[in-house]
Amino acid sequence: MKTRKNVAIGMFLMMGVSFMLLSLNGCTKENAVVETSADVQYKDGTLNYTNADTSLTGCFSCVDSLPFESLSPSETEAIVIMREEEFLAHDVYLTLSQFYTKPIFRNITRSEQRHTDAIRALINKYSLVDPAANHVTGTFTNQDLQVLYNSLVAFGSSSLLNALTVGATIEDLDIKDLKDHLLTIDNQDIACVFNNLMRGSRNHLRSFYANIKFTGGTYTPQYLTQEEFDAIVNSQHETGTGNCHCN
Ligand code: MN
Ligand code: MN
Repeated sequence: MKTRKNVAIGMFLMMGVSFMLLSLNGCTKENAVVETSADVQYKDGTLNYTNADTSLTGCFSCVDSLPFESLSPSETEAIVIMREEEFLAHDVYLTLSQFYTKPIFRNITRSEQRHTDAIRALINKYSLVDPAANHVTGTFTNQDLQVLYNSLVAFGSSSLLNALTVGATIEDLDIKDLKDHLLTIDNQDIACVFNNLMRGSRNHLRSFYANIKFTGGTYTPQYLTQEEFDAIVNSQHETGTGNCHCN
């Protein structure tokens, strides 16, 4: 995570968000739409994010089954930062779930708890100092993350569309950071966890973006390129153990 990006994010959010107002024409019997099972599935899986990241369960045993390899300074830094960056996502969504009833916030909060737990497995394996050993919601050792948390919650608490935009922004940043870290990571166990988290983040981004569109808004990527963003949101929800090979 780059400091300048964190500090600037509040400004990006304030300036970068544009949206169309919903056209509320009323719902009369004449234009009532019968929901198909595909519609119900879309609302449940995509808009409400009821999809579970069960693949991470396999990744815990994966961390211990893969070889113990020496850590480079950049690998150590990546693990320490991502432990709290996953908590950033968790804490922001948890806080926003208290303002809005949309299930997506509390459902993805559960997913982020599993993500930060997966990083803790790496911290334990390599006996690193856990920056979130006594984590308190909304409080971070990394001050860049603290600034980011404060600005994201402030922005997200002003409207549902802003809250959904905050969700897309966090996932946009998360994917970019995991991708950058992976360039300098050669330990199999760290790559396994990070690839799993990145897949989870792509699924979260798909859901937040679907909700933004459903609410009548738009989102412009702030960290990923437009091309990378489009490739993600225009593809299907991902399942399976993907890059986590435990044999
Ligand atoms: Mn995550
Ligand atoms: Mn996420």
